[in-house]
Amino acid sequence: MAQHDDPLDGLMPEDDSYRTCPVCGRDCAPEVIDTGSSVRVAFSCPEHGAHSMVDPFTEEL
Ligand SMILES: [Zn+2]
Repeated sequence: MAQHDDPLDGLMPEDDSYRTCPVCGRDCAPEVIDTGSSVRVAFSCPEHGAHSMVDPFTEEL
């Protein structure tokens, strides 16, 4: 997988349902969380908090 300046580009699934807050249906902005050993992308609703966490380097579902 090629390196890219934007860690989200090309790594995230095409389906954007993970972005949507299950409570209010808001489209939430991704937030990259670097834990040191891995990188995860969290989606948090400004009203309802984090609802989804995606590991862009793990394909298994
Ligand atoms: Zn919400």
